[in-house]
Amino acid sequence: MLYKEEDYLMISGIQHFEFCRRQWALIHIEKLWEENLFTAEGNIIHKRAHDSGFNESRNDVITTRGMPVYSSMYGISGVCDVVEFVRDDMDGFEIYQREGRYKVVPVEYKRGKPKEGLEDVMQVVLQALCLEEMLTCKIETGYLYYDEIRRRSKVVITSELRQRAKKDIQEMHQYYERKYTPKVSPSKKCSACSLNEACLPTVLKNMSVNDYIARAIGEDI
Ligand code: SF4
Repeated sequence: MLYKEEDYLMISGIQHFEFCRRQWALIHIEKLWEENLFTAEGNIIHKRAHDSGFNESRNDVITTRGMPVYSSMYGISGVCDVVEFVRDDMDGFEIYQREGRYKVVPVEYKRGKPKEGLEDVMQVVLQALCLEEMLTCKIETGYLYYDEIRRRSKVVITSELRQRAKKDIQEMHQYYERKYTPKVSPSKKCSACSLNEACLPTVLKNMSVNDYIARAIGEDI
């Protein structure tokens, strides 16, 4: 089955979904958004990285910024911060009106440093799925660039990550169709959540503040 354009979900939503299903639903289904320092800084970094329409060709690398991507197979769309086309005449793919063969490498810019969770990694995987469908190629690797450490972290697009991405996307579409927002499930993540203020009053309806704090720091209640 191919998705219609009006049913496409945002690729960037995968970072919210991986972080917390409820956070994703509050933002993407209920259209709730609280800007905090983290999200504001993240937006500035992306604005710089996108610089839409910018193309640069240096040595054997063509760099494209702000490239719109989509997949009708998975029903997702978004914009890649950077896509590099790296010349590789042995293992690369042909690109329309370009001499030689190229590997396609998505690069996503992030604030801070590499995270413990897979939220950033999965965003690169979804970008790779879109680029593979659009350019009829296979993508083995992508990168995450973190401003705090000022270097790239390699993302190997393994079959496990592909399976996880497909499962996440399917679940996201199911939630979206049903307009379903998962119930609160407090965790340590809540203190770093941009929707903490909007979400927590709901939590506190169902338990005491002390119980909530105990649960958030991992104590049994
Ligand atoms: S406050 Fe916690 S439960 Fe609520 S959306 Fe954020 S991470 Fe999820």
